[in-house]
Amino acid sequence: MDTSAIETVKCLIIGSGPAGYTAAIYASRANLAPVLYQGIQPGGQLTITTEVENYPGYADGVQGPEMMVHFEKQAARMGADIRYGIATRVDLSAQPYRVWIDDEKEIHAHAVIIATGASAKWLGLESEQRLNGHGVSACAVCDGFFFRGKDVAIVGAGDTAAEEALYLSKLCTHVHMVVRRDRMRASKVMQDRVLATPNITIHWNSETDEVLGGQNVEGVRLRNNQSGDLTEIAVSGFFVAIGHQPNSDIFKGWIDMDEAGYILTVPGSSRTNVEGVFAAGDVQDKTYRQAVTAAGSGCMAALDAERYLGAKGVH
Ligand code: NDP
Repeated sequence: MDTSAIETVKCLIIGSGPAGYTAAIYASRANLAPVLYQGIQPGGQLTITTEVENYPGYADGVQGPEMMVHFEKQAARMGADIRYGIATRVDLSAQPYRVWIDDEKEIHAHAVIIATGASAKWLGLESEQRLNGHGVSACAVCDGFFFRGKDVAIVGAGDTAAEEALYLSKLCTHVHMVVRRDRMRASKVMQDRVLATPNITIHWNSETDEVLGGQNVEGVRLRNNQSGDLTEIAVSGFFVAIGHQPNSDIFKGWIDMDEAGYILTVPGSSRTNVEGVFAAGDVQDKTYRQAVTAAGSGCMAALDAERYLGAKGVH
């Protein structure tokens, strides 16, 4: 084996959303000389959003992509070694842990911080993909504002869909909620709120046949999965809220996860079941999923890594 290609690092951070960059800021300041690999989507989910108004410190709001440039610059200024590359395989059987980047480069890391985030699930329609960013969105809280005073549709029946439908109902004239079964999965309290909101119409037993529109979303065609009937509704926005998929595949078999693939951490910490491997951000959080909570957990992971490496005597 050609061992010259192997690089040993104290602290490896995988992922470049708020969690990864915050971990890099703290780890750099703690002299852990972190190396951060950005992954498939440098900057993470915020790079596909627009205005961010709820991140503290930005009194006038900020564009999501711009905010992530700020995160990256701050991490770089603290000395983090930020690289483009995707972690494609890991071997966590012995320390230092082995992580392969782009199936080629092998990194040996004394501590690993997993901050690979989550990705929104999509229906998989061609029209949904084509109109993404032109009326199709997976984040009502990010993009709902653009549809003030307009009619929109939202697909999904879980707590996220219910929460987002309620959010949209305050901005939009009418919200069409597309539910594929005859009942919702969302908690009772959320269902009750949705049902009590006059400008939300639920289309039961309905699936999206096609998102309609040339340059921008103009409507949606629904198919009733009982009768087969097709109905077209005019909407300007089409929101998909059918869940998120944590980006944890490469850690399967090594790191404990729940049935949906979210990494399990010891409550009140970022520790996983593998000593020296920590998880932060959306890959381990299916409840809050906010930039600020991800950043907070990235800070926790760096502090946990610092303590761990200190106790191990890795300098
Ligand atoms: P869920 O997995 O709970 O719900 C996904 C919803 O999307 C389901 O109703 C499902 O339908 C529907 N769906 C899935 N695939 C398709 C498809 N191809 N076409 C149409 N519909 C589809 O995801 P959520 O993001 O809603 O929630 C994730 C977790 O986060 C849950 O545990 C939830 O309770 C939690 N959460 C809690 C909140 C809170 O407490 N305030 C807020 C937001 C989330 P079906 O029901 O038929 O399977």
